[in-house]
Amino acid sequence: MKVLVVGGAGYIGSLMCRRLSDAGHQPVVLDDLSTGNKKALHCDIPFYEGDLGDQLLLKSIFNKETIELVMHFAAKIQVGESVEKPDLYYENNVAKVLRLLNSMLENNVKRFIFSSTAAVYGQPQYLPVDENHPTKPINPYGASKRMVEIILQDYEHAFGLNSIVLRYFNAAGASLDGTTGEAQRVKQNLIPIVLENVEKERTSQIFGTDWDTDDGTCIRDYIHIEDIVAAHLKALEHLSKNEGFDIFNLGTSEGLSVKQIVDLVSQISGKEVKSVAAPRRPGDPGKLVASSQKAYDILGWQPCHSDHETIIRSAYNWHFNRRY
Ligand code: UDP
Repeated sequence: MKVLVVGGAGYIGSLMCRRLSDAGHQPVVLDDLSTGNKKALHCDIPFYEGDLGDQLLLKSIFNKETIELVMHFAAKIQVGESVEKPDLYYENNVAKVLRLLNSMLENNVKRFIFSSTAAVYGQPQYLPVDENHPTKPINPYGASKRMVEIILQDYEHAFGLNSIVLRYFNAAGASLDGTTGEAQRVKQNLIPIVLENVEKERTSQIFGTDWDTDDGTCIRDYIHIEDIVAAHLKALEHLSKNEGFDIFNLGTSEGLSVKQIVDLVSQISGKEVKSVAAPRRPGDPGKLVASSQKAYDILGWQPCHSDHETIIRSAYNWHFNRRY
């Protein structure tokens, strides 16, 4: 199948392109290179540099490439930035996606896989969080993703656009062959931050050590990007045989605490990892883990690479041997 991967030069999109090719599909990439990198891509993949909301460009891609399905990875994803600049988040993550969906319909492309997030749930009311948990996002990032989910449900009903929403919990790790990984210059998530601090001999901050968890630090559900990409392939198979709209969590139902991550990095690197207790970060829940039972039951997906060792070791290998 020919698949337009929007944001295909980024952290998860670039691995998606590799695994699509491995599975015999043909990825085509649209990316504005704001955070992505062309070096993440095989040179034989058709690449269009541009904006996902540029309807003239989209029209020319759809005319030229006979796309059958679109995957979307091109979002702004920083919670703090979304609070400061909600306009940027609603423009990029909602308005531009709306233009992309309208272009798809104009060109009769009716299959879409959307990367969403645990942030649509807001503060967890029970654990593990399943897809029936109420959605009450507490920041513009989570709200922007939830808005697109609602649009997709309405577009399925009105226009027959078939889509699958995948709500990622904490995406982590790097490709197992070491070819792609997290490459943003300013590190925003815990594991890349700790690795960079180790490299630069800096001290990592632990946001809150008085949570109601075994070691007092926050617990999150880390899911390896190879597993996330595998879920997209399962979703693609599902959409090639079924119509409709559906939502799936992607997590492991197991959590890892901030302190466990710091200890694992130290164990795997053999280096001292300096850390210091810092105040709780506003808006953080103490524990957030997902139930992915639905993805197992309907898509036949389960995580295979999200054990703690594989996540930290792949991230470590990438960080210290990265190509770009
Ligand atoms: N965290 C931390 N120190 C850091 C960055 C993050 O203690 O320098 C904690 C953060 O409070 C949260 C967990 O690590 O409990 C994961 O944070 P991240 O920003 O990676 O992902 P989030 O769960 O917020 O999406």
